[in-house]
Amino acid sequence: MRVMPTTEPSVFERIIAREIPADIVLETEQIIAIRDIAPKAPVHLLVIPKSSRYRDVAELAAGDPALLAELVATAKALAAEHADGDYRLVFNSGAGAGQTVFHVHAHVLAGGVDEGSLAH
Ligand code: AMP
Repeated sequence: MRVMPTTEPSVFERIIAREIPADIVLETEQIIAIRDIAPKAPVHLLVIPKSSRYRDVAELAAGDPALLAELVATAKALAAEHADGDYRLVFNSGAGAGQTVFHVHAHVLAGGVDEGSLAH
């Protein structure tokens, strides 16, 4: 019998499944947006495709460009709703770049972003 590798559900999958709580600011058929639990800006939201197929933004771009476009449009709309419309969009890609959750997500930083820093 072949043993298939298993991976633990990520924190975002558990939030999507309502297994752990989160401050959900938007939910559509394909996307969920939540407040980051450790905000690095006055407004710090995470825009997350519900699908757990894509580990990072390059995989999402290759696998489902329309979903990436929807994610970016959602980020823009949320920055307008929660701040003045200006925002920084960050996709950490790889552990060496600070990615800790390997389920693609965009950080939307707004409401007064530190102009000198590119870190999330
Ligand atoms: P990254 O480091 O780019 O993978 O981003 C993961 C982000 O998820 C971090 O900014 C964390 O603060 C955030 N995070 C982790 N757990 C939770 C949670 N339960 N609710 C909201 N945000 C979370």
